[in-house]
Amino acid sequence: MDTHLSTRSLRRTGLDVLGDRPWGSHFCLFFDTKSDLLDILVPYFKTGLAQNEFCFWILADPLTEDDARRALHQALPASDRHLIDRQMEFIPCEECYLSDGVFDLDRVAGGWKARLSDALSAGYDGIRVTGSTGWLHTREWADFWKYEATLNESITDQPMTVLCTYPLEDSGGCDILDVTHTHQSAIAKRGGNWEVIETAALKDAKEEIRKLNEELEQRVVERTQELRVAQAELARAERLTTMGLLAASITHEIAQPISAMVADGGSCLRWLENAQPNLEEARDAARHIVDSGNRAADVFRSIRSLVQKAEPRVARLDLDTVIEEVLVLARGELRQQNVVVRTEVEGHLPTVLGDRMQLQQVLLNLIMNAVQAMSGVNDHSRDLFIRCTMNTPEGGVLIVVEDSGTGFDAGAGERIFESMFTTKAGGMGMGLSISRSIIAAHGGRIWASPGESVGAIFRILLPSEGGAEGNQINSSVTAAG
Ligand code: ADP
Repeated sequence: MDTHLSTRSLRRTGLDVLGDRPWGSHFCLFFDTKSDLLDILVPYFKTGLAQNEFCFWILADPLTEDDARRALHQALPASDRHLIDRQMEFIPCEECYLSDGVFDLDRVAGGWKARLSDALSAGYDGIRVTGSTGWLHTREWADFWKYEATLNESITDQPMTVLCTYPLEDSGGCDILDVTHTHQSAIAKRGGNWEVIETAALKDAKEEIRKLNEELEQRVVERTQELRVAQAELARAERLTTMGLLAASITHEIAQPISAMVADGGSCLRWLENAQPNLEEARDAARHIVDSGNRAADVFRSIRSLVQKAEPRVARLDLDTVIEEVLVLARGELRQQNVVVRTEVEGHLPTVLGDRMQLQQVLLNLIMNAVQAMSGVNDHSRDLFIRCTMNTPEGGVLIVVEDSGTGFDAGAGERIFESMFTTKAGGMGMGLSISRSIIAAHGGRIWASPGESVGAIFRILLPSEGGAEGNQINSSVTAAG
């Protein structure tokens, strides 16, 4: 039996007012008229039959078996009407509850156990019951109330749904209180509509759900924060790995202007130390020193902006400057790999709001991937084309990074963004997945397609500042800081 319950899957009650409930549900219904009763019981059983449940309809005043059968027959599609005979039993209340005219608690409770066991053996998912109290007299009330309380507890772990019906006319205020206490939910018609009456059990359940929800929300907040920290660490690790790949060429990019500065400094001194100092030449040499110093400083600035463990900062950014700074870092590697770089900015680009370090990380990752994809290319030129445009149908700014490398299969355009997907011997397969979350956090989109004849094309669409998608940077951008 446990297998039925282990899933705790919800069953449709068939009643809008109750919705879906787990097995072991025990409801009571206060009805006024016969039509109220049919209003609830017909959809209740129709749903039970459709869900492979064996159904027991216990009959008492004001319903006869004929009434019940007729109403159900009318409600079922012709193809399902045979289920009434095969999958249902109509039991007169006396037969079900009384032996020799007396209510016998143990016998009745035991009866349900046996019926359930038979139904399960016959391949049904469980049983659906309506109990009737039309027969109940004051003398049986105490025993019957005890039976309802026992039933309420004992069916919670059974594949059973029980709906007990009580005539409002015969139920005094105290009775109603007793009854609602021994059921999980009670329903009654008020102002022409069925409503759930708050019972103590329902209130407790609601309170428990509220507490669980609160706990769950708190856990989600904590986990989200942990996830942010982990993502930030991962993004930083990825940046440092990329910088590691570039270390040799970056060292060269710094060493080269420093050597030039030393050489130009020597020349400058010589022009000045001449018997006839040549101030014009000395000035030129000094200018070269300043230029080289600036070049080295640019490289340092770019390195610092990518390796620092700074808090993410949303700022107004010019994309062409962002791209330029990345190219300063990659320049040596691109030169060494004989890659011809072309950049193009179409018209006057609007600024975007974003985190400089994170956007540079994305671009550097695309550039390094392009370089690696072109490293084996010898039969045509190695071209890297980076282009920015604002004239897209979607609005915003579009950055296109195009290479002439090996490319990827037409069907792999999405897979390459999955984390851990890599085709490289030493690859981590995290670069594009991190890039995608960074761009998504900026309210943008990144996608890839194979180049027309060779290579790959990556496109990044970012909302422009004040654009439709807004200048609000998604909070998870902070994740990659
Ligand atoms: P990694 O570089 O560690 O493999 P990425 O997430 O950056 O991780 O890239 C995942 C995979 O996507 C790469 O291994 C490669 O197969 C493919 N890929 C990425 N960029 C390109 C490109 N420009 N050309 C061809 N394939 C690419």
